[in-house]
Amino acid sequence: MFNIGCHLSVSKGFEAMGKDALKIGANTFQFFTRNPRGSKAKAIDAVDMEKLLILMKENNFGPILGHAPYTLNACSDNESTKEFALQVMEDDLKRMEYLPHNLYNFHPGSHVKQGTEEGIKIIIETLNKILKEDQTTIVLLETMAGKGTEIGSSFEELKQIIDGVTLKDKMGVCLDTCHVYDAGYDIVNDLEGVLNKFDEIIGLDKLYAIHLNDSKNPFNSHKDRHETIGEGTLGLNTFVNIINHPRLRHLPFYLETPNELEGHAKEIKMLREVYVL
Ligand code: FE
Ligand code: FE
Ligand code: ZN
Repeated sequence: MFNIGCHLSVSKGFEAMGKDALKIGANTFQFFTRNPRGSKAKAIDAVDMEKLLILMKENNFGPILGHAPYTLNACSDNESTKEFALQVMEDDLKRMEYLPHNLYNFHPGSHVKQGTEEGIKIIIETLNKILKEDQTTIVLLETMAGKGTEIGSSFEELKQIIDGVTLKDKMGVCLDTCHVYDAGYDIVNDLEGVLNKFDEIIGLDKLYAIHLNDSKNPFNSHKDRHETIGEGTLGLNTFVNIINHPRLRHLPFYLETPNELEGHAKEIKMLREVYVL
């Protein structure tokens, strides 16, 4: 089963996202758990979420991915910023349990001037406070491009975080194709080598999801600007290799490209045409 979708707006509700996904030929999707700029999440609508679960079942959806607001910084040097991130993530994880057995992704954060080691220590502390033994949601660390003092642009850093977490079986990684290429992992010319490195350092069993984005910038640029599939520096052939790779093809793929629904529908159609059944 090829599970592909894109980022959708949660503002219309959960069942509405499922319907939008179907409209564009998707069988999964990603959504922000709340307005990325604001802090308030909508009241929990369990009926709407239940309707989405039924739609997902009827249409063989892959796992869906809740994305934490990208403005959070779980390892900020500012006490209240850090505390806020913890509270939002804790609340998000409670909400995710209304959609059991799905995925929750977050950006590890920026250490500001504290240094990578200190930043990693704080992220681990946060995760150890919010992860619960009985949760069904897997929490994913996103691979980052390495802008500024971002943590998570190397497989070693992600591994270090997972190693520090007590409930390791609740943790995984979401690989963003634009970010890893910007971070200096050459998935264009050496996908096999990058996957082997991931497997050696983190373990491919920890890879739960892929953000499928082309990049506006050259290799190792540490920039993080997404581009439409096939129109950036990664190129269509890279995506053909990724979605068909025997060690990746079973994973859910999420587009975060600069397009509206219509553009995403085209990308999904194109990718379905090159996916070898
Ligand atoms: Fe992200
Ligand atoms: Fe991403
Ligand atoms: Zn990005």
